Amino acid sequence: MDFDNPLRTELSELGEFGLIKHLSQHIELNHKSTVKGVGDDAAVIHYSGEETVVSTDMLVEGVHFDLTYVPLKHLGYKSVVVNLSDIYAMNAEPRQVVVSIALSSRFSLEAIEELYAGMLLACKKYNIDLVGGDTTSSLSGLVISITAIGAAKKEDIVYRDGAKESNLLCVSGDLGGAYMGLQILEREKTVFKENPNLQPDLEGKDYILERQLKPEARKDIIELLKSLNVVPTSMIDISDGLSSEILHLCTQSKTGVELYEEKIPIDPLTFETAREFNLDPTMCALSGGEDYELLFTVDIGDYDKIKNSMDISIIGHITEEKKGRLMVAKAGTVHELIAQGWNALLRK
Ligand code: ADP
Ligand code: MG
Repeated sequence: MDFDNPLRTELSELGEFGLIKHLSQHIELNHKSTVKGVGDDAAVIHYSGEETVVSTDMLVEGVHFDLTYVPLKHLGYKSVVVNLSDIYAMNAEPRQVVVSIALSSRFSLEAIEELYAGMLLACKKYNIDLVGGDTTSSLSGLVISITAIGAAKKEDIVYRDGAKESNLLCVSGDLGGAYMGLQILEREKTVFKENPNLQPDLEGKDYILERQLKPEARKDIIELLKSLNVVPTSMIDISDGLSSEILHLCTQSKTGVELYEEKIPIDPLTFETAREFNLDPTMCALSGGEDYELLFTVDIGDYDKIKNSMDISIIGHITEEKKGRLMVAKAGTVHELIAQGWNALLRK
């Protein structure tokens, strides 16, 4: 972020209300369920005949993001997308978000405009109304808290606890990319600290950098499953890494699992970059996190409906609880699946 930008309007010049007015001028409302957006003491939302689904996430500077390499526009985009991902993981449709931010005087109006441009871009892409929020000051870093609100028919909602023995375990997209993107960014940050004249070496890494900086929520997978007439028996989005999310499904569903290492989808660039860093690509997929793919289980009778979907991989199956949670490695050896989120990986 460029703090020396000559085009710098201090937030104190606008004041809290001026800032809110400024930020909300580009907001468009498109859903008929949005009765009242920004401007009153509360937003008003009307869902009739559906369940309301609510999810919230807080992002703290220095804990969840590092502004030395994350552009504010990307941060805004990602902070909305990760919330939408949670709503899709319930097999529901997100429709509104509420955005709260805490800012220090370090941030200019132009910087916050960038953040909002990213948030509004995500809202536009996923057809979401930004209906309110809160703005306050912070003594140090930036804090962003977003709440997403959506709806689904009662019978369509998919919980974490519905997996049954013999269900197929499926995952969308590919895994480990966001974690490898983070490794590249961390490496270049270290290089830059030692020699600020060196240009960052990001060439050829676009895909994994994008996975880290500008992830997408799998709205398309929810729509695909709907069009195939498949309602998953359980579902979760992958924020902490495949192994930890599989264990959540199994624990809540009271089942075991057999995961096949060779079936875990890993993009060639992720694979190659992991090797470059002397990391095991499978470990990156199992523990990397932030991929925001959907992990779900389906009845074996639905196999024919999903088998030709390029973007869905069948990576294992659900077993009875006493069989345990196992991964069959490429060599044929069997290992117990352990939860090791990306935090554990980072501490190495
Ligand atoms: P109150 O004092 O009742 O909390 P505010 O002055 O904080 O009201 O908010 C006024 C309006 O502006 C409300 O509709 C609120 O939802 C909206 N708002 C405040 N901050 C933000 C923000 N960061 N982004 C979007 N809307 C906001
Ligand atoms: Mg307020």
